[in-house]
Amino acid sequence: MRNIVFIFISFLLYCCQGNEAHKKQIVAKDSSITALLPLGEMPDSRVHLMARELQQFYGMKVIVMPRSAMPEEGRLKGTSRYSAPAMLAWLKRQKPANCDRILGLTHLDIYTRKGPYPHWGIFGLGYKPGVACVVSDHRLRQFGKRTDTFLTLVTLHEIGHNLGLPHCEKHPSCLMSDAKGTAKTLFAEKKWLCTNCKSMLKHP
Ligand SMILES: [Zn+2]
Ligand SMILES: [Zn+2]
Repeated sequence: MRNIVFIFISFLLYCCQGNEAHKKQIVAKDSSITALLPLGEMPDSRVHLMARELQQFYGMKVIVMPRSAMPEEGRLKGTSRYSAPAMLAWLKRQKPANCDRILGLTHLDIYTRKGPYPHWGIFGLGYKPGVACVVSDHRLRQFGKRTDTFLTLVTLHEIGHNLGLPHCEKHPSCLMSDAKGTAKTLFAEKKWLCTNCKSMLKHP
């Protein structure tokens, strides 16, 4: 009997420790406000999920703006692909004055220049530090049920850049690791900031 009780208590302790390691981490509690701008066909369910994840993880306030069409100025001629740097410049101008930053969420493909590639497809891009970031689910939708998990990691990553965090090379599971445009990194990441990144976190 005592053994059974002991095993039961051990099991409970194990569960608690397991939860402790990657429980919903609130890395900061601050009064900053992020405006979330749904673009084009981005589903409402995903927009509200990202708003909740940002609130829970960073402790910031999030307001969801009325949906907007994609800006014509960022479109790569003859395609439905958009320049992420051009979108950041456009988003900056859409930011409500009472908000500290703006996040654009799009269903369409976004790209940036990378080495010899002028139109390198990416998941997201954010100023570091800065007031604007953009995230796309276009390249993540192939992962089916994991799409929302990966989209959350990318969103928390880009807002992390806005808050001044650089790429992390200390822990492959830290969400500030550089995805380099491939999902390989995302499979290793957790909804977690390593101690080093957490200590660098500065809020306005
Ligand atoms: Zn990054
Ligand atoms: Zn880190």
